[in-house]
Amino acid sequence: MTDRVLKEPEYMTCLDCDSSRKVSTNTYYEHNNPLVGTKYYPLCKKCIKKFLDGDENNKEERVKTILQQLNRPWIVDKWSGFNQDWGQYIKHIASFHGSKTFLDSEFEILNTDKTDSRTLSNNDELIDKWGLGHQPDEYIAFEKKFDFLKKDYALRNSMHEEALKKYCRYVVKEEIAVVNNDFKGIEMWSKLATKAADDAKINPKQFTKADLTDGIDSFGEMSRAVETAVDVVDILPKFIQRPNDKVDFTIWCYVNYERDLHGLPLVEYKEIYKFIEEREKAYDEEVDLTELSDLM
Ligand SMILES: [Zn+2]
Repeated sequence: MTDRVLKEPEYMTCLDCDSSRKVSTNTYYEHNNPLVGTKYYPLCKKCIKKFLDGDENNKEERVKTILQQLNRPWIVDKWSGFNQDWGQYIKHIASFHGSKTFLDSEFEILNTDKTDSRTLSNNDELIDKWGLGHQPDEYIAFEKKFDFLKKDYALRNSMHEEALKKYCRYVVKEEIAVVNNDFKGIEMWSKLATKAADDAKINPKQFTKADLTDGIDSFGEMSRAVETAVDVVDILPKFIQRPNDKVDFTIWCYVNYERDLHGLPLVEYKEIYKFIEEREKAYDEEVDLTELSDLM
């Protein structure tokens, strides 16, 4: 909308109080609202002030409404920074010379008060855990990272915990360096984090299933382990289909002797082998089920 022709009357009537005021930066605000065809927004400063004054509880909402009308950004950090003073705030916004609009608003505080109060209430605990001298938001970030990672990382003893904490410190510092475009910091912390990850066995390359879960800990895991253990199943002993030694031959003779006594036709050895194989399979399944129920 940069090509719109702005009418700049010498006097403009305020939409609210109906007063005709001389147009200047003292009486009206400049704005970015493409739907309003004048350079200054047709609500006088006095009326805006009147609208903003009053109930402190929802003042913020009214400020946002005005900023939306003016198509200026709402930056919550600045609003708190200027102690909710509209005059100072809008002066600061004017210093952007219209380069930011309401779409550039920042609604969330980066270092929230909530974070700070959490830091304060758990201060000693956090310092005990992470050591002295870190920034309040760093402690919170350490905690979050630690909580997130420990789900997948078996803390079997305090050495494991120390190793994980070390990694968390470095990786959080690295993330902060990334946010701040601190390239030297990124390089340094990333190196330390990688080393700490290796030491703590957090490097995904080093994970074994047992590292992650301390063994199989659910039925789903169990059945998957069984399903994928093709190689294990395949190395079970293979019997040949004809008698291989004297024991095989003796069994074969005994079976046929029994069958002959019962008037049944004689069988080839491979049928005996098939029978043994089936029994063996049934036995293995039984053992698997028993082990499984032991695990659960
Ligand atoms: Zn007015």
